[in-house]
Amino acid sequence: MAYSSVRVHLGGRNAMTLARLIDAFLSLVLPDRCAGCGRLGSVLCDECCRRLVGYDGDPPRVADQLTGVRIAYVFEGPLRHALHQLKYRRRRRVARPLGALLASYLRAHPLPCDALLPVPLHRERLAERGFNQAELLAREVAAGTGLPLIAGPLVRLRATKQQALLDVAGRIENVADAFMWRGPAPPARVVIVDDVLTTGATVNACAAALRAGGAREVYALALARSRGQAPLSHR
Ligand SMILES: [Zn+2]
Repeated sequence: MAYSSVRVHLGGRNAMTLARLIDAFLSLVLPDRCAGCGRLGSVLCDECCRRLVGYDGDPPRVADQLTGVRIAYVFEGPLRHALHQLKYRRRRRVARPLGALLASYLRAHPLPCDALLPVPLHRERLAERGFNQAELLAREVAAGTGLPLIAGPLVRLRATKQQALLDVAGRIENVADAFMWRGPAPPARVVIVDDVLTTGATVNACAAALRAGGAREVYALALARSRGQAPLSHR
């Protein structure tokens, strides 16, 4: 398709801007396609929303810095497809219905917190993808709950390897000291928002940085987690 060849020739930021413009244009002239099943009509159809399964599996294995963890859905079926569309097909608009689902989950399972913080992406990954999916989700959660969102002071210092390629010990080592809080003291009780949680190593490392910065209670809120230990595509 001409769309992808344009990206190849331009490269970098120009391609990203053009891709975003084309995406915005296509959304005006074409009907939306469901990110879960491909059906025409909406970004995420009612049928796919009905098929989502609430998470009731094991807690994450790495959580010593976390006060508590909440996971909304099992990472499977339409949700897996939708997150793939968001992250790897770069369909930003998919974040809106997914974030709205996460906001309703948090309203139904409230946490004692003062602010939401997305898991940050390293600037190189951000430039590559064009957006941070965790931040897009967190913005929707903020809009749907009235909680403030703090994005910026929690920084990812290193471009870490893909967690999916590593075992648990490797994941912990990969993200250890990868985050830092750079700003005035964070609120006492915060919630870190992520799209997919696997071992918990990434959110746990974020929590360590937040605690070092002065936060007292740090919760993690994720949209999805696999039931088993199947390899996941995560960051
Ligand atoms: Zn659907």
